[in-house]
Amino acid sequence: MNPIEHIRRHQEELTTWRRDFHAHPETGFEEVRTSALVAERLESWGIEVHRGIGRTGLVGVLRAGNGDRAVGLRADMDALDMPEANGFAHRSTIPGKMHGCGHDGHTTMLLGAARYLAETRNFNGTVHFIFQPAEEGQGGARAMVEEGLFHRFPCNAVYGMHNRPGMPVGQYGIRAGAMMAGCAFFDLVIQGRGGHGARPESTVDPVVCGAAIVSAYQSIIGRNVAPNDTGVVSVTGFSAGTAYNVIPDQVSLRGTVRAFRTETMALIERRMRALATSIAEGFGAEARLDFREVTVPVVNGAEQTAIIADAAAAMVGEAAVDRNRIPAMGSEDFSYMMAEVPGAYILVGNGEGEAGGCEVHNPHYDFNDAAIPYGAGLLAAVVERELAPMKS
Ligand SMILES: [Zn+2]
Ligand SMILES: [Zn+2]
Repeated sequence: MNPIEHIRRHQEELTTWRRDFHAHPETGFEEVRTSALVAERLESWGIEVHRGIGRTGLVGVLRAGNGDRAVGLRADMDALDMPEANGFAHRSTIPGKMHGCGHDGHTTMLLGAARYLAETRNFNGTVHFIFQPAEEGQGGARAMVEEGLFHRFPCNAVYGMHNRPGMPVGQYGIRAGAMMAGCAFFDLVIQGRGGHGARPESTVDPVVCGAAIVSAYQSIIGRNVAPNDTGVVSVTGFSAGTAYNVIPDQVSLRGTVRAFRTETMALIERRMRALATSIAEGFGAEARLDFREVTVPVVNGAEQTAIIADAAAAMVGEAAVDRNRIPAMGSEDFSYMMAEVPGAYILVGNGEGEAGGCEVHNPHYDFNDAAIPYGAGLLAAVVERELAPMKS
């Protein structure tokens, strides 16, 4: 029996766990209840648990046979700071917090894989179950890596996944190479000299200067990044002024940058700095840019991509596996683990869902429980491939 079919026998119980996580969302580095439940379940199946890696992160270790290879499987556990608009019974019980990205489902999928592997032990080597905190922009993966994740739990390969609304349940999407963009956030402060709105000649107007910088930034992707490469520069905030007749002293802008290559991200940063500094200077103002890396790009290893895609195709058929998925401009901090250990990150179809098939980070989103066996079964199947028992 393939792992998907095997795990589907536990569908009812897995659904109960998933909905319980959904009802009790915990945001970055506060996943205390969630990680305690995870640890308790892993231990009940005889899996060794190491807590407190990256604060609320934890690692489960399962060995079979005498093989010296190890595979890491990773799921994220955190929820979002957003109110839930759903009315179903398992809606969030915590005001202002919601599992709006399906990490409740990812946690459940990895638990499903762990139980299956602990029961069947049809592999030779070590599996590290990595339950990560704070994926949503707070650096949970990086925190685990910096606290020695792969020194304490060395892995030959690491695998992760994310649910994808709109892709039918039972289908997968992946590509070798860049799969998701790297992300940076920036803040830009333009210091002018305020004054009366009717007497601009006595001021240095930071609003006009800021508008010129916003426009100039749109030239970076069009004129500096090569057309066959790509990136995004979005100014998402522009705050200035408090009165109709006052030219403000200062303008604050903020936004996000995405790119699939670290070199491209560095090029964009250089151009943003140069444009801000020299445009401000031209206006007689001063610009200060704070540019911060949030995640590096997700780059799938060719070998690991083939292994996980083959594992999926063996269970659901080649037609249900898109091996040439278009790269996404979204980002994912699993990239910090993949920067240490070769790996692959795959999208798992989440279908339309009960709530009407909306996107992640939407207040009406809900993870689709029917997808649990597909995520769990695939992670288990990857282990059976990576750590295939020797034929005697
Ligand atoms: Zn998210
Ligand atoms: Zn997510």
